[in-house]
Amino acid sequence: MAVKIFIATDRLDSVLEKLSTKFDLWVPAPLKSDKSGPTGFVLYAPGTLLSFERQTTMSLKKVLLPQEETLLRFEYGKDPQEPAKSSVTVDDSRQARPTLVFGARPCDVKALLTMDGVFANGPYVDPYYVERRKNTLFATLVCRQNDSKCFCTSVGGGPADMEGSHLKIVQVEDGYVVEALTKEAKALLKDLAEAPDGDKEAQAAKIFEEASKRRVGELDAEGSPEAFRKRFEQTDYWREMIGQCLSCGVCTYVCPTCYCFTITDETRNTKGERLRSWDSCMFYHYTLEASGHNPRPTKIERYRNRVGHKFSYIPERYNGLLGCCGCGRCIRSCPVSIDIRQVVGHLKENACE
Ligand code: SF4
Ligand code: SF4
Repeated sequence: MAVKIFIATDRLDSVLEKLSTKFDLWVPAPLKSDKSGPTGFVLYAPGTLLSFERQTTMSLKKVLLPQEETLLRFEYGKDPQEPAKSSVTVDDSRQARPTLVFGARPCDVKALLTMDGVFANGPYVDPYYVERRKNTLFATLVCRQNDSKCFCTSVGGGPADMEGSHLKIVQVEDGYVVEALTKEAKALLKDLAEAPDGDKEAQAAKIFEEASKRRVGELDAEGSPEAFRKRFEQTDYWREMIGQCLSCGVCTYVCPTCYCFTITDETRNTKGERLRSWDSCMFYHYTLEASGHNPRPTKIERYRNRVGHKFSYIPERYNGLLGCCGCGRCIRSCPVSIDIRQVVGHLKENACE
């Protein structure tokens, strides 16, 4: 039997407060005090201003892949009596806390399928990611407010796509109808609030049905891997498409499926930490080798790699799964208005055989 609750708007804070005692609770919110500024996912605390009205500027990827994290701590040991002898102790213990993301959009949760392919299901399993993933539940908001940059239905998603979600949230008049989609979510909703009345249920069902039918975006991504391969050597095409790129990397930082990272050791005296931090394939130094050679020396190779990665390499490696969820963030945030839909959409036009 379906388990649903209704959270009145004026009770949302108290419900979230209750949830935050059991979970690390991430919610969409302004990143600065100015509510019209950039938004992202923050850890809920009483009084947090929520931002459900529009897609967040930053995605939720930092919940599973933090912008910076300590992978391990180490300490060198030396015996003054035997200076030639040294040792090192390593502490790579970790503990993923129970986590709930409340109010993410379907595209963001769908994006995690790409991340799973890379960090959990591929030949190399990342224990840090996997442990967080196992301990995280997603309460996903049925999307009613897309904008002109969204294109989720063009890439296999949709405003009501609940793949990967544990709870479904539908915003109705005066509140939210929340439905459990998994066993653990059913247990979570128990005693949290009353069941919705018939009117609220009917409103939620209608909104969900409308969202399920809505088409968002016109991109035709079919056949992109083949078209990309044909375009690969056509430098003029890439120059025309992305000549104005500044290599600022913003598109990769806001993207929920970009996961380039770098690892550094920070050492002080005999102790140190190994850190993993987000990086960007749009940066010259990302691929610069110690020899001085750089396989992607210009922005043309770098942007081509970004498009190829999402629309050719990932689908070929992971059974057709695209490396883009159509959230539109890279288009919204690019300072020179580069639009990945145009670049991918034109791949097939008169591509040389
Ligand atoms: S490439 Fe752009 S539209 Fe696609 S997932 Fe990344 S930010 Fe979103
Ligand atoms: S955000 Fe735009 S200008 Fe910046 S690296 Fe990406 S495509 Fe280039």
